[in-house]
Amino acid sequence: MAIRLVVMGAPGAGKGTQCERLCRRFGVPQISTGDILREAKRNKTTLGVKAEEFMSKGLLVPDDVVIGIVEERLLSRDCANGFLLDGFPRTLDQAEALDRMLKQHSTRLDLVVSLDVAEDEVVKRISGRRTCSGCGEIHHVSFGPAVGTGRCDKCGGALVLRDDDREATVRERLRVYRDKTAPLLAFYEAKGQLVRVDGVGPVDEVSTRVLAAVERAARS
Ligand code: AMP
Repeated sequence: MAIRLVVMGAPGAGKGTQCERLCRRFGVPQISTGDILREAKRNKTTLGVKAEEFMSKGLLVPDDVVIGIVEERLLSRDCANGFLLDGFPRTLDQAEALDRMLKQHSTRLDLVVSLDVAEDEVVKRISGRRTCSGCGEIHHVSFGPAVGTGRCDKCGGALVLRDDDREATVRERLRVYRDKTAPLLAFYEAKGQLVRVDGVGPVDEVSTRVLAAVERAARS
């Protein structure tokens, strides 16, 4: 089914997991600007080196850079039948650029899902996160795959605390989310495209809520 989705949520709201499940369910590619930027960082490309300056401080990478990345990615053939944007847009300028891109192709978003989680909960979740330096898989000190061995259970890579997952950086990312990204909720609400989903609780329960919301929108 062709579906064009945006998933929003503060850092640590669980976007990554929910996005993966939605993509599997609807057979659309997941476009995560955070993943694209992290890969560029790992490969030390010009983009990666530039992005790192901002990411390690918890700041947003400049709009023109991320807008360019998404514009190019949306032209790929696998996006013709829909896509899921994870972590984009994050500013009003990005949202307006996205509207313009879609309009050029005579399409629009079907739905924007906001995964709602309180800030304190988010800080707890993120500072316990450990990311595989090999494949990027996320583990957690209190739940999910064990981090006890310090190695990824998928590829055996070393598990590390990402620079941007340190508590001070997490607080900064939350401030940026509040200032720059939260205003997008009103933007999409006014367009009748927003659905808010409670992101607290066991992952499977959150998934059920998210899927129900998206399926309702897909049918209407
Ligand atoms: P994420 O994994 O989505 O939390 O993204 C990690 C970091 O990448 C963010 O803290 C930003 O520095 C950068 N980033 C990802 N997506 C965007 C975006 N749409 N606009 C600006 N910066 C972004």
